Amino acid sequence: MSKELVIISGKGGTGKTTLTSSFAYLMKDKIIVDADADAADMYILMKPDVKKKELFKGNMPARIDTEKCTKCDICKQLCRFDAISINDEGNYVVNEIKCDACDLCRIACPADAIEMVETISGEWYESETKYGIMVHAKLYPGAENSGNLVTMVKHRAHILSEEKNIPYILVDGSPGIGCPVISTISGADFVVIITEPTQSGLHDLERVKKLCDSFKVKTGVVVNKYDLNEEVSNKIKSFSEENGSVFLGVIPFDKSVSKAIVNEEIPYVACDSIKKPIDEIFNKAMESL
Ligand code: SF4
Ligand code: SF4
Repeated sequence: MSKELVIISGKGGTGKTTLTSSFAYLMKDKIIVDADADAADMYILMKPDVKKKELFKGNMPARIDTEKCTKCDICKQLCRFDAISINDEGNYVVNEIKCDACDLCRIACPADAIEMVETISGEWYESETKYGIMVHAKLYPGAENSGNLVTMVKHRAHILSEEKNIPYILVDGSPGIGCPVISTISGADFVVIITEPTQSGLHDLERVKKLCDSFKVKTGVVVNKYDLNEEVSNKIKSFSEENGSVFLGVIPFDKSVSKAIVNEEIPYVACDSIKKPIDEIFNKAMESL
């Protein structure tokens, strides 16, 4: 059974791409999973050569057949997501963005006027990269990353790892604490949380750590650009140690990191100042996995 290492951050722009691409470079025998379908960073840095492409079926929102609808209002009263309204023509309609596809209105409709419709929200791929197989996805404009999509790409990576006897899965998670992150954390063996030395970075870390604890997943913490505020960096270190996380280490600020990303280079390869700190972080994370 392969081991799954996930990298997440409390919010975007905290150095997750720097760390994940470095781990992708350093880790041998792994499958890379890009679960952050809203950001193209890993795609740009890994330069995948697509070998297999499939459509991703997203949510199945409700749709009302106005011919059958008797306007009894039951569905509108039942919908917790406020997704059903009456349009200018007096017809009951579903807002597909608000609809959570819970199926309740379809079951409750006495006129059998509601069906759940399949939607295609993007494509997912299996690719080859210089750093190993990568499973990733691209969403169509307007579609949002979802827990289903993350679960699907991770599941595909596990199947491949079994088939090819690959011991590790490295997952680039999406930022925040929403549905995609919950799906990313679920089933992980070790979660690396990367944050920055600011009060909001500390606050984000607390929220993400709480989420990981609810899944009983082991966590490690990294502070990016630690030298911009060493006092808060030390607070983050103390918080991690007091709350059962492995403090994996710190990465110094180096303005050439963002330049490397713009030039489509892995920062670890392009920037000498972050090599040794990331080596230490990587080794500690692998020991904890
Ligand atoms: S429950 Fe069915 S019949 Fe009643 S308003 Fe909704 S769609 Fe129309
Ligand atoms: S499927 Fe659920 S969320 Fe969607 S409209 Fe019906 S009741 Fe609302």
